[in-house]
Amino acid sequence: MPGALAAASLLLAIPASAATPSPGAPGIGDPYYPYYGNGGYDVSHYDLRLRYQPRTDELEGTATIQARTTQDLSSFDLDFLLDVSEVRVNGAKAAFTHSQQHELVVTPKTPLAEGTTATVVVRYRGVPSTKSAYGFTAWHRTPDGAVAADEPESAWWWFPSNDHPSDKATYDVSVAVPDGTQAISNGTLQSTVSKLGWTRYSWRQNKPQATYLATLALGRFDITTGTSEGGVPVINAYSKDLGDNDGAARASVERTGEIVDWLSGYFGPYPFSSAGGYVPNTTTGYALETQTRVYYSPKQFANGSNTSVVVHELAHQWYGDDVSLKRWKDIWINEGFARYAQWLWSEHEGESTTQELADYVYDSHPAGDAFWTVRPGDPGPDGQFDIAVYDRGALAIQALRDKVGDQAFFAVLKGWPRDHAYGNASVTDFRRYAERVSGKKLTALFDTWLFQPVKPGASAARAASLAKAGTPVAQPRSWKRIAATDDVHGR
Ligand SMILES: [Zn+2]
Repeated sequence: MPGALAAASLLLAIPASAATPSPGAPGIGDPYYPYYGNGGYDVSHYDLRLRYQPRTDELEGTATIQARTTQDLSSFDLDFLLDVSEVRVNGAKAAFTHSQQHELVVTPKTPLAEGTTATVVVRYRGVPSTKSAYGFTAWHRTPDGAVAADEPESAWWWFPSNDHPSDKATYDVSVAVPDGTQAISNGTLQSTVSKLGWTRYSWRQNKPQATYLATLALGRFDITTGTSEGGVPVINAYSKDLGDNDGAARASVERTGEIVDWLSGYFGPYPFSSAGGYVPNTTTGYALETQTRVYYSPKQFANGSNTSVVVHELAHQWYGDDVSLKRWKDIWINEGFARYAQWLWSEHEGESTTQELADYVYDSHPAGDAFWTVRPGDPGPDGQFDIAVYDRGALAIQALRDKVGDQAFFAVLKGWPRDHAYGNASVTDFRRYAERVSGKKLTALFDTWLFQPVKPGASAARAASLAKAGTPVAQPRSWKRIAATDDVHGR
C-alpha cells in the first residue's frame, strides 16, 4: 500500500523541534532546590531600572531581560515575589500569573521557537519587606533603607530572574533614590545624576554574574574609591551609622586592594573590573561574596578589625564568582577554597601554618563527632553551609596539596580560575582538572576527604602528612580569629 506508506513516512519526517511548544520547567533541575531557576531559556543580560523610597520601602521598576530559548516554549517562568503590572515579550503584551512560592509564569502572545532571542520586559512595584517565601526574607530593612544580599536566594525581592548560578548574565542596575541616599550595586559606577530631589546611580557589571551574587544596598553611605598597587579599581561603601564598628570596618575593608593583589599571587589576575565591599547598618551577622562588592555585616567587626573575613570573601571572587558552581551540591568549590585562603593568610601573617590548621581540624574532631557525617562534596541542602563544608573542606585541600606536592598544587590553584573563567564547574570537574595538572589519580583521595561520612583513618591521615595524627594538637594561634568568621553565611 504505497499510499499509506507515503503518509506514514511523511508523519515520521516531522522534525521533533516542530513538536507542540510546551511550558518551560518551573525549576532548572537542581535536586537541592527543585523550584530554583527555570527551564527553557538562558539569560544573557539584565537591565534593571529602579526607583526606591527608603521611608516606605517602596520599590518600583522595569526589568528588561535578554534571553535565548533552549526549547519551543508556550510559557516560561521567572522567579519573583513583587507585584507585576505588565509583562511584554518581544514587544507584545504577555499573560502572567504567580504560582508556587516564587514563580511568575509568563505566557507570550505567540509561542517562542527554540534557539531564538527574546526580550522580556517586566514592570513591577511593591514593598519587598512585606514579601516572604518559605517563611523567609532576604530583604533586610535598615534604619536608612534596605539591603538585598543572601545565599542561595536574594533576587526574588528586587528583580525577576532565572535564579540559579548556572545561568549567569551581565547587569546594568540603575536606581533612583532621594537626594542624600546612596544606591550601591555590583561593578563600576557609570554615572550619578541628580534631578528634582532624586539621584540616580547607574552601576554596570560587565562580566557574567550569578543571580545570588547581584546585590543592592540603599541607604546613607560614605563611598571611598582607590586603586590597588596591582591596578584594580576599588570601590567601598560604609553606612554613615556604623557607630563603634566604623573604625574596625574601615581598617578591614580598606585593605581590599592589598588583599586582592595578594590573592592574585595564588589565584591569578583579578577577574573583574573593580573590587570592593560595603558595610550597611544591618542587624545581620554574616558576610557574602556578592560579586565585586562584598557584603559585610557590621558584627564582623564588633571585636576589632577582621582581615580574615575580607580574605574569605575576596577569595570567592575567583572561587565561586568567576568560577561558579554547577549545582548547589558543588558548594565545596566555593567554601573549601575561601576557607583555605584564610589559612594561607594566617601563614602569611606569621601566625599558624596551613598544615597546623589542618592538623588541628583533624585532631579536634573525634571519630564519633557529627562533624564527619557531613560530606563536603555533597552535603545536602541542610548541610550546605555546615562548618564541616568549610573546615573539612579546607582540610581536604591540604590533603590534596600533600598528595600532589606544592608545585602541582599551586599550579592547580592558579590554573583553575583561568581554565573555567566566567563559567560553571562541579567538584568532579575540579578533581579531573587536578588529576590532569598533577598527573595523579585522585578518585580515592577525594572520596576519603570529601565524600565518606566518617573520619578518615590513620593511614589516610599519614598519607596526607597529618603526621601528628593520634597525638593531641594544640589550638593554632589564628584558630579563634578564623573561627570568628564561621557564621559568614549563617542566617
Ligand atoms: Zn564563603
